[in-house]
Amino acid sequence: MTRISMNRRQMLAGLTSTGTLSAWAMPVSARLRARIVVVGGGFGGSTAARFAKQFLPQADVTLIEPNATYTACPFSNLVIGGTRNISTQIFGYDGLRARGVTVTHDRAISIDPSRRSVTGEDGSTWGYDKLILAPGIDFRWDAIEGYDAEATALMPHAWKGGAQTLLLRKQLEAMPDGGVAVMSIPPAPFRCPPGPYERASLIAEYFKRQKPKSKLLILDAQDTFSKQPLFEEAWTSMYPGIIERRGAMEPGRVVSLDAQAGTLSTEFETFKADVANVVPPQMAATIAATAGVADATGWCPVDPVSFASTLQPDIHVIGDAIIAAPMPKSAFAANLQAKLCALQVSRALAGLAPQSSKLTNTCYSFTSSDMAVSITGVYSTSGGAFQTVEGSGGISPAGADNAQRNAEAAQARSWFETITQQAFG
Ligand code: FAD
Repeated sequence: MTRISMNRRQMLAGLTSTGTLSAWAMPVSARLRARIVVVGGGFGGSTAARFAKQFLPQADVTLIEPNATYTACPFSNLVIGGTRNISTQIFGYDGLRARGVTVTHDRAISIDPSRRSVTGEDGSTWGYDKLILAPGIDFRWDAIEGYDAEATALMPHAWKGGAQTLLLRKQLEAMPDGGVAVMSIPPAPFRCPPGPYERASLIAEYFKRQKPKSKLLILDAQDTFSKQPLFEEAWTSMYPGIIERRGAMEPGRVVSLDAQAGTLSTEFETFKADVANVVPPQMAATIAATAGVADATGWCPVDPVSFASTLQPDIHVIGDAIIAAPMPKSAFAANLQAKLCALQVSRALAGLAPQSSKLTNTCYSFTSSDMAVSITGVYSTSGGAFQTVEGSGGISPAGADNAQRNAEAAQARSWFETITQQAFG
């Protein structure tokens, strides 16, 4: 793959800009009244609520989210590496309220597609004309013997933002120099495919600076991984002797663990960890199955143009919960899907047909606290499926100098500011 050309970059910037979306939305009547309910106030849901209100100012847009604040996962690996404060990861919902979205803090516990209603934990119900579900992921607790919600207090996953992120950071700080940290990585699909390898890089950077006799062992259920040559290049040049990885064939997949004893086992070997970070296998958050929009895979099939569930009427699903491969499960993807979904929902309510478009995704990954690499993909939705557009996209070049890697880190920081502003600002 080659680096994405400037013209294509500009084209993609236009594609994802709010200006373009506003232009597409113009045929939709601004006076149209409707009830749009959004479940989940993360990157997908908050962005969808904001844009639904923008496209249909007279609509009642309600966002249901249990937490008063949202703690972002992108950049949380920098917190784990000790170079970023978690306070910069936390966002509130006042921005959405100021834009006219009704934000209610409750957890949706059931959805009745025939009555078009959502029920919350406290017994409240919300009727809808269109429901947008963006609940993110939950973990498959039955996938690794011995790993359950209780075990996360000893072996954090840190794959949802907040307390788990801080716990892993504290454990690394408490670990003696010369200790061994072990990371367990699940088979795909999971949230943020390059995320575990970014985390490994930033833990290794911390060890190099503060605990140079320490090691990081990666037990990986995957054979190959996103941006692998770039990560391996960074590990060899910046962290020699610190990171060891065992891939699927070795076999690296963790099948069981004992959180009290601090051990993790593959089919053939058991490893003792001073700190263990277990990223468990995943599925769409449980409300998706409750609503009947998840299939036997645990994920949600959708029409790739409208994001309408293929299993239930008037429910659209976006973000990590959906089956969108080859598009990855990322905040970038959730943000774009949210804007397009808000547009398609607005069009549907106005009696207009869905309007197809190309989608794009860029994932930045830090290889150190001031250097990053990226991968970009472009996707079409023709034929009822997400498909990579051949010859498009690109990956950072191998062997680039520090200045280029520093520049990508700066781009990543700008991206984070933009995306959080769009979701919560
Ligand atoms: P979420 O952001 O998880 O939001 C889901 C929301 O739904 C949550 O607020 C939750 O409380 C709520 N919810 C769940 N169930 C219910 C219910 N029943 N009722 C009401 N609300 C409910 N992506 C990138 O693009 N770039 C990165 O650099 C990047 N780095 C990452 C690093 C790490 C370590 C991790 C773990 C992830 C990273 N990601 C990154 C991925 C990104 O965090 C996710 O893809 C993104 O958060 C998905 O958005 P979402 O809206 O689908 O889910």
